[in-house]
Amino acid sequence: MNWDEFAKWSKEIADWGARYHKTLRDRPVRAQTKPGDIAAQLSRTPPKEPEDMATILSDFDAIVMPGMTHWQHPRFFAYFPANATPPSILAEQLVNTVAAQCMLWQTSPAATEMEGVMIDWLRQALGLPDGMTGVIQDSASSATLSAVLTMRERATGFTSNRTGLSGQGQLRIYCSDQVHSSIDRACWVSGIGQDNLVKIKGTGPRFGMDARTLDAAIRSDLANGHIPAGIIAISGGTGVGGSDDLAPILAVARAHDLYTHVDAAWAGAAMICPEFRDRYWHGIAGFDSIVFNPHKWLGAQFDCSVQFLRDPTPQLNTLKIEPEYLKTTGESVTNYSEWTIPLGRRFRALKLWFLIRSYGLEGLQTRIRNHVMWAEELAEKIRALSGFEIVTEPMLSLFSFRCPGDDADQQRLVDAINDDGRIYLTQGAFEGRKVIRVQVGQFETTRQDVLMVRTVVEEIWRALK
Ligand SMILES: *Cc1c(COP(=O)(O)O)cnc(C)c1O
Repeated sequence: MNWDEFAKWSKEIADWGARYHKTLRDRPVRAQTKPGDIAAQLSRTPPKEPEDMATILSDFDAIVMPGMTHWQHPRFFAYFPANATPPSILAEQLVNTVAAQCMLWQTSPAATEMEGVMIDWLRQALGLPDGMTGVIQDSASSATLSAVLTMRERATGFTSNRTGLSGQGQLRIYCSDQVHSSIDRACWVSGIGQDNLVKIKGTGPRFGMDARTLDAAIRSDLANGHIPAGIIAISGGTGVGGSDDLAPILAVARAHDLYTHVDAAWAGAAMICPEFRDRYWHGIAGFDSIVFNPHKWLGAQFDCSVQFLRDPTPQLNTLKIEPEYLKTTGESVTNYSEWTIPLGRRFRALKLWFLIRSYGLEGLQTRIRNHVMWAEELAEKIRALSGFEIVTEPMLSLFSFRCPGDDADQQRLVDAINDDGRIYLTQGAFEGRKVIRVQVGQFETTRQDVLMVRTVVEEIWRALK
């Protein structure tokens, strides 16, 4: 394909994108295909001869699109959101076209410098203290793994990268039972092990860990010769939004000289609204590492995960490696690949620059405030349905409910709702019972879309009875 043809198809795809988004409301939210349906339509062997783009694109419409679940659908209320706003898509088109590797300052000076500035824009937007720096990673899972590796190195005097973990005492990491599975996996792959991830039951109205219980667990481990390495707090857990009280946890960490990380992958975006910070982020400024995903609720499409660091030195001492072929000469510059596990890096800051400039912080705040308000309104409407119960109250824009009946009835209702296609919900578990989760966070959703959840839930539940 030559570049003139590229320009022609690129315009077609832009038109396709606008049509797609304008007609999304008419499609079922969750893909209505059976496993294997799509693979059966794909050629089993690679083509020998070139095919033309018109054929490829028409197959895309005919084969691929029916097999997509529409994350950008205004009535997507499952999991957490994955917004792709128009300015962010445009920025990604530019990034894809230039396709630079942004591992070192020298390999992409603009990407490196803009990354530093975007981290600082977001630091200000979230009310984090002056002097906090950070790095953009692909996912919260990677940022959390980086923080856990830093905990491991710091607790072993920065020796375990060299010597491995054998012969060391057992390193221990503490968190609540509301954390995301990425925390478990970070402990697996860092060599710390699941058995050394101490989970403390979340209690109270927001299911946070109790600081005294945490302190007692650390003391008991010390008495047993274990090596406490770090504490991971959760701010907005995936299941039901469980959130730790940060300030008392920080005090425990300080008392035992432990490294701290906050997983705010989803809820962090809401902290651009100052009114939520008191409830969810009191004490955040003292944490060593904080992760939040602009690729969830802020409008930048995957992947874009920001890890803030109070002092990057321990993470750099954990992850930095400088073989001869990566050395650059000249002035001292930031090489962000030294802050993270992968070497290669995409130019992720550009979509933040496009996004934040296009909407302004106020435009982004308005969306998040609406989502929270509409989720609260919807929870009241579902509470009013006879026999229905709100199991966990709204935490920001996430709540969970149950219809009358047992666990199997909950799953039957979720499946029937998703087969219907007008809205998309997923199930979760809370205190041993199955619950139905609702989160509001899609950028194009309206109050009417959100309130429609009640109508669909009631209608489908009646039909199942
Ligand atoms: C989504 C989520 C994650 C994982 O995020 P990735 O960027 O997909 O790795 C981790 N923690 C919480 C609380 C989340 O909501």
